[in-house]
Amino acid sequence: MPAAGLELSALRRCYGAVRALDGLELALAPGELVALLGPSGCGKTTALRIVAGFERPDAGAVRLDGADITPLSAAKRDMGMVFQSYSLFPHLTAAQNVAFGLRLRKTAAPARAARAEELLELVGIGGHGARYPHQLSGGQQQRVALARALAIRPKVLLLDEPLSALDAQVRLQLRDEIRRVQLDLGITTLFVTHDQEEALSIADRVAVMRSGRLEQCAAPAQLYQRPATAFVAQFVGTMNRVRGTMVDTDLVEVAGHRLPVDGERPVPGTKVEVLLRPEAVGLEAVPARAAADPAVGTVRTATFLGAITRIAVVLEDGTQVKADLPSHRASEFPAAGRARLVPAARPVLVIEP
Ligand code: ATP
Repeated sequence: MPAAGLELSALRRCYGAVRALDGLELALAPGELVALLGPSGCGKTTALRIVAGFERPDAGAVRLDGADITPLSAAKRDMGMVFQSYSLFPHLTAAQNVAFGLRLRKTAAPARAARAEELLELVGIGGHGARYPHQLSGGQQQRVALARALAIRPKVLLLDEPLSALDAQVRLQLRDEIRRVQLDLGITTLFVTHDQEEALSIADRVAVMRSGRLEQCAAPAQLYQRPATAFVAQFVGTMNRVRGTMVDTDLVEVAGHRLPVDGERPVPGTKVEVLLRPEAVGLEAVPARAAADPAVGTVRTATFLGAITRIAVVLEDGTQVKADLPSHRASEFPAAGRARLVPAARPVLVIEP
């Protein structure tokens, strides 16, 4: 089946005084996986439920391949859905769970059984069809839920925090599997998560929501390197905010270093906040009794992350800055030692506080 394009257009939904969705716009290309990311309560689940047809918007429309499906019931929408809780039928076997939607569609028993087996194979648990949900691990149950959602050959796959209930290792495994299956089938997919790492690693594009609206939708690398707003810059990845001053139309001075600035730029002389990733900050060890310097601070913590160690330094004015160094250099910066910031790459963003 050719993949379908999905469009969410000016969606609004209020619950009493709460505006869960406030003009949400989002378009998915056929076969695309878009992760819907945002803080708790920003409206992700509401958006997904409206797309699924479980919920009606107060205004706006959902379009599938250009056709307005807003008035259609969930059953008529050709969408497969996977929830955070596995929500399998406990009295049915894995195979019967997968075949459930086909039974509703009056598919003959042998074809149902064959399709269930094919799907269980696809999600990596062929041979487990006769087991009941309580005989499966959380990760396996979620694979059955994915197979069940796909059995009806939906045009769109909707995933609502499908990995949140799983432990870390299973979560990573299943994340990769979901992406593999999604690419295999070329199915248009909306994946709701509040976990930025999950969103960046699985999606073609990540849609960041804030207070019921779309803040930015872009490819993971672009979102990380070129966030459109301070909200996105700070929500995605780790970010430092350091004081600086514009010294030219395209130069900012921060911690005694001059860095080039792209995009919208405040006029020279403006006091700004400079947003720098930890990997764009270098450190130099300085003697304990060095002269006062706003770029020098005290090492608070060193967090070992494998190849890199993240060192947190607190400057004289109380600003905390995190710097990522190759782990072999970490011993140069013991706790309570002194270190000077060496901003080493252009800022992600410069904002007027
Ligand atoms: P989370 O990540 O915590 O699941 P979310 O981004 O999915 O959050 P939603 O569940 O869509 O957010 O909720 C958006 C807002 O609407 C929240 O303020 C929530 O409290 C409110 N809300 C959602 N559903 C209802 C409801 N049925 N009745 C009243 N308020 C609701």
